[in-house]
Amino acid sequence: MTTQEATGEFAVGVDVGATKIAAALVSNTGEVVREGRAATDATDGPDAVVARIAQVAGDLLENAPGPVRGVGIGTPGYVDCPAGVVRNAVNLGWVEVPVARQVAEWIAAHHAVQLPVYIENDANVQALGEYVFGVARGIDTFAHVAVGSGLGSGLLVNGRVVAGASYTAAELGHLVLDPAGRPCACGLRGCVETVVSGPGLVRSVHASTGPDAPAWARDPELRAETIVAQARAGDPTAVAALELAASWLGMTFAVLVAVVNPALIVVGGGLGHSAFDLLVPAAQRELARRVPAQSLDPLRIVPSAVHSSAVGASALVWHGVNS
Ligand SMILES: [Zn+2]
Repeated sequence: MTTQEATGEFAVGVDVGATKIAAALVSNTGEVVREGRAATDATDGPDAVVARIAQVAGDLLENAPGPVRGVGIGTPGYVDCPAGVVRNAVNLGWVEVPVARQVAEWIAAHHAVQLPVYIENDANVQALGEYVFGVARGIDTFAHVAVGSGLGSGLLVNGRVVAGASYTAAELGHLVLDPAGRPCACGLRGCVETVVSGPGLVRSVHASTGPDAPAWARDPELRAETIVAQARAGDPTAVAALELAASWLGMTFAVLVAVVNPALIVVGGGLGHSAFDLLVPAAQRELARRVPAQSLDPLRIVPSAVHSSAVGASALVWHGVNS
């Protein structure tokens, strides 16, 4: 959604993915005024990618309809937010890249403006987006769980992102629930996202079908959308895959509830949204079997409201300004 009517103050949000950089000029109420994008092309090296981030952000600064208060950047990997440094991002091949400083210097050199630049892990950025613009406004202790091609999670406690001693706090996608389970890209086995993700659903269906299985289930190109549609039509193989994912999602929620007693869990991501009704009620039943009722008293589990990762990234500016 874009609008030309937004007024007031603005921020630039940039989401750096493995394949593309998506940016937006965003109002302080979360409206997208203008968008920009570029290919990531991470094989060109961090200097080239950082220059592209700065260029896309800089283009959005020009002709902004009001003052721009800063740039917020979300990236994969382990991010040292106070230092503005990506410590390690395997997807991008980055180690110790001082992104915030480099982007600020590039913008100062090319646009003659000094802007604060913030950088944070993309899962934490999604949580902040909900805190600043979405369903978690006014709720200081909550978690965001994104179910899509993997499972990403971010956690705020008392209004602060919990980063952890080495920037891996709340990385629930790689929590091992079954050490003898499916191999995971991270090198472990039985991580949450080997079951609770689009590829996890596909693996569940492919693992449970014999030669008598329907053609859709044996398709090597099978997609999660098909499984969700088949589950809605009552196909038992698809229903079983979603039930397994829901059960594991409930175990994942139990970890969050046991440790931080959140008031809210926000479920986002493509699959988290499209299959919310198939996953969350069953996950809540699993959760209720695993934690004391007292800890569930204030808890609500709701779908996410901020669907643009660039808008989420822009929230870093307002959170940074206000904290
Ligand atoms: Zn893993």
